[in-house]
Amino acid sequence: MLTAGIVSAFFSFTASRLQTAQSTTDPLTVDSAFAPFRPQVHTFWDSTYFYVESQGIPSHQMMVGITAWQQQVPIPQCYIGTNAWSIPLNPVLAATPVPVNQNHFLRGAVAVAVNGVAIFNPYTNTGADAYLTGQLDNWGGHCGRADDYHYHIAPVTLYNQTAANMPIAYALDGFAVYGSLEPDSTPMTTLDVNHGHFAPNGVYHYHASPAAPYMIGNMVGQVTEDSTLQIVPQAAAHPVRPSLTPLAGAVITDCQPNGTNNGYTLTYTLSGQNYYVTYDWTNNGVYTFNFISPSGTTTQAYNGFSQCTVPNAVNDLSLDESVLSIYPNPGNGDISLQLNSSLNKSDVREISVYSIQGTLIKRENAFVSNLDLKSISKGVYFVKVRFANQELTKKVLIQ
Ligand SMILES: [Zn+2]
Ligand SMILES: [Zn+2]
Repeated sequence: MLTAGIVSAFFSFTASRLQTAQSTTDPLTVDSAFAPFRPQVHTFWDSTYFYVESQGIPSHQMMVGITAWQQQVPIPQCYIGTNAWSIPLNPVLAATPVPVNQNHFLRGAVAVAVNGVAIFNPYTNTGADAYLTGQLDNWGGHCGRADDYHYHIAPVTLYNQTAANMPIAYALDGFAVYGSLEPDSTPMTTLDVNHGHFAPNGVYHYHASPAAPYMIGNMVGQVTEDSTLQIVPQAAAHPVRPSLTPLAGAVITDCQPNGTNNGYTLTYTLSGQNYYVTYDWTNNGVYTFNFISPSGTTTQAYNGFSQCTVPNAVNDLSLDESVLSIYPNPGNGDISLQLNSSLNKSDVREISVYSIQGTLIKRENAFVSNLDLKSISKGVYFVKVRFANQELTKKVLIQ
């Protein structure tokens, strides 16, 4: 009896430790959060990290609403390949959660949003709250010293593009950030001092809120902070020109991409007059800035990095719809796939099925000739077939 008592005490101790000490995150669950933001983001993973590739540019407008501007402007970055964002897939609870405040994580990101844009500490290195001091645009972001766009608070406007019960970010400790709903779509329950809580499945997550700490009070998972107060590993932004200084009194009123998608015109007012920064880049990395003021224009040019392409952003238009047959469509969910003779089954890297809300339903890592979707709800779904550098999406109706 004594032995049994010890054994059961041991097991209950072990079980509770396991529940709260470590959790392995299903990469498909993480991936479904990023899915609505493709092709601006591309994702892949190994057993350690979930990787996010992007140019760090959101599909929403940027910069408008900033009243305390550092004179930096958005330039797409190369968060690609070995410079991708990395989210730990086996998060481990920190013995003492480290606060996201004026003393920690003052350089670089603390999280990455599901659109591939970095999220920094809400406090700047002078201790100011970036949001309350007018440094952020209407979406919670601005540009850093490398002209890299990033958020400083939870980017809740991303809920215009994703379901209300999905994460809008992943912290660099590996835990998800949700909005005002829980993953099961019920209203957010009470938060702990770290600005999150454990879900019923034992995995921790954070929640976004409109006031400080906005997202993450303390890093619940273990992270490594280097001597520059930056979490490592993380993706790096690369400047193409020297950083600038705050321009007192400037208010940004517009920021529009140019017609050829290789630059922007940023408009601001100062002392009641309009000023413009019109800038663009060439394929071989020459960045030209025109500073247009009421008294004239000055131009500066810099040699910088060549712009990158997000892997899945390659055009899928070169794939003719006819290369893939899906039948019966509409059907009852017992779906057959067939490639025409121009493509080999071995060329297929991935087949994934998404709901109309962008939720990943099923994924295969090679070609399959049958997909069993009989157990999912009736409705419209998207079947995406990805080849080495092309992809094709087809709509299917399950009745
Ligand atoms: Zn910043
Ligand atoms: Zn929650």
